[in-house]
Amino acid sequence: MLEQPDHRLRQREYLLQISRAITAQLDLSSLLNLVIGYAVEMLAGTSGLIAISDEEGDDALRIRASSQLPREIWPAFAPLLDLPVGDLPRRGVAVLRDVAADTGLSLRQMIALPLTVRQASVGVIYVFRAALNVDFSANDRQFLQDFADQAAIAVSNARLYQGVLREKQRLDAMIEQSADGAMIIDSRWRITTFNHTMEQFTGWSREEAIGRPCAEVLGIHSDQGVNICLTDCPLQRRPIMENPVAEGKITSRDGRDIYVQSRYAAQRGPGDIFLGAIANVRDITAQRREVELQNTFISVISHELKTPVSIIKGYAGTLARQDATFSQETLREGLTVIEEEADRLARQIQDLLDVSRVAAGGVRLDRSDFPLTILVADVVRSFAAQTEGKFEFELRFPDDMPPVHADYERLRQVLSNLVSNAVKYSPEGGTIRIGARAEGDLAIAYVADQGIGIAPEEQEQIFQRFYRADNRLRRETQGSGLGLYLARAIIEAHGGTIWVESQIGRGSRFFFTLPLGRRQLTD
Ligand code: ADP
Repeated sequence: MLEQPDHRLRQREYLLQISRAITAQLDLSSLLNLVIGYAVEMLAGTSGLIAISDEEGDDALRIRASSQLPREIWPAFAPLLDLPVGDLPRRGVAVLRDVAADTGLSLRQMIALPLTVRQASVGVIYVFRAALNVDFSANDRQFLQDFADQAAIAVSNARLYQGVLREKQRLDAMIEQSADGAMIIDSRWRITTFNHTMEQFTGWSREEAIGRPCAEVLGIHSDQGVNICLTDCPLQRRPIMENPVAEGKITSRDGRDIYVQSRYAAQRGPGDIFLGAIANVRDITAQRREVELQNTFISVISHELKTPVSIIKGYAGTLARQDATFSQETLREGLTVIEEEADRLARQIQDLLDVSRVAAGGVRLDRSDFPLTILVADVVRSFAAQTEGKFEFELRFPDDMPPVHADYERLRQVLSNLVSNAVKYSPEGGTIRIGARAEGDLAIAYVADQGIGIAPEEQEQIFQRFYRADNRLRRETQGSGLGLYLARAIIEAHGGTIWVESQIGRGSRFFFTLPLGRRQLTD
């Protein structure tokens, strides 16, 4: 290169153009291709390489871009990369000769430009020439140094940018895959990030939700039906809350009610100005139900257990009166009531104990093979005595009905509950049909009544703990809503299922399946 003023001016202009081009490029591999292209052109080279040190802080150089050197022959240049840049003038020539011999390329001269930012090495640019050219002037060297500095800063920035990008992708993936709902809002309370779980909770798609006010999409409502997000947003309270949380009900677009707890982490600028927040939204419906159940549990216990206790106490108190004499018959009647109520109390306590056993880990079974007809006859006998002819019991079993493989006592509990319900919920009396048939390796049994029936929307709920259908009889009949819950737990422990078919005013038919006895399966 010649030392002329306009030549220098051109160099400056060129440098400026190059700087603009490379600093505008944040994609690392495009940037490296750009840099090596310019470097080869400026140094009148025939080919070139750019190697940069690993981003993980490792000092080893790795070739990342080239000009006129196909990727397959990059490994041949490894010995060059191993030489410290300071050693290149002395030892580089010999190494270069070996590389030329290895690759069959004409590599007569090499210029290496170290890339450094804040005294730390980022990488090295190698430019090769096929012919020996004149040496560089001091001015040319300065020009090349300026170029290398620009390139080093651009590489370093692109690497930082890629690091940030990678981090952002990692964060996005974490947010997306979170089982909790995650949502980011900007300083104007508009949604900027909305993960998959949020889509499921709210029924809003990401595309629809982004850009909308969070109070519209999430809309947490208090028990009184007020949208807390509009009236009492914890992020807007003064003084600023340390751990802002909102809790309440949201209704998804498809009409599902979910209880959520939303925790916020806010970002604030000078003067506590709100810059945005990330919300972590958790479905707490199950916990809410649990609390509600606990409350029901307590009221059921107090009602159901107190009733027999007060009846027993009342009768016992009366019979024990010193100032009265009772006939044998009155005494017997009183004592019978006391005995019945004590039995009822014992059954209730047993149910409650069973419920906690089911909740703690299931029902233990003691199975054997027995004909269902024996069990059914046993249960019907005790109910026929109690109902005093108000009901007719009809049993329908095929003659060749195989035995079932089940826990007799547990199954007695299920059947007693179904028959007891059939009686309780048939105020007019009627026929109670009990039957079964074999299908494959299962027995399908049923208990049918002609009672009040169950509304379709309640047919699944009645199997839940403490659930009692809303009807006139609920107030008139005693019950804790545990019978069917336990029946389902017992039938499912046997590997069977239980369900109901019913029509209001026409009656109900409860079905359940059970495994048939082993003997039958091998026949
Ligand atoms: P309980 O009878 O103690 O209330 P269950 O769990 O046995 O509890 O039954 C739950 C609810 O299902 C009952 O309260 C009743 O509303 C409804 N139910 C059960 N069996 C029948 C039936 N045969 N006919 C009509 N309703 C029924």
